[in-house]
Amino acid sequence: MGMYNRLSTNAACRHCGETVERVLQFKFGYCNLNDYVVGDSVDWAAGKRGHTLNHGEPVTGRAWVPAYAEEACPSCGIDFVLAEFAVVVDGDQLTGFEQATVGFHFPEENDVVLLPTATTAPTPVPG
Ligand SMILES: [Zn+2]
Repeated sequence: MGMYNRLSTNAACRHCGETVERVLQFKFGYCNLNDYVVGDSVDWAAGKRGHTLNHGEPVTGRAWVPAYAEEACPSCGIDFVLAEFAVVVDGDQLTGFEQATVGFHFPEENDVVLLPTATTAPTPVPG
């Protein structure tokens, strides 16, 4: 899947309910296994390198990108290969994330999806 970035966070596992540390892999900004937490702003590679190293483009307003748990849940061991998470960005800043409920995931065909201003969160799809 190429290079990505990592968002370290705590989330309640949607299967066992335990609040566990999760690392979410996502592609936005300069993808070089950079470690972020909510509130950080992503870096962008400048110059010609940016064409190959950056993923997506800086956005105006809010958007989201699909995100994948790096490891299985450390509490119950459940693993999910689809985009169970979505990282929400505002401009360059990582403002939070959403987790789909069981039976849903976030669409993966679009890398960076702008949120309409009236929408507060990305919409999961069944699967
Ligand atoms: Zn769990």
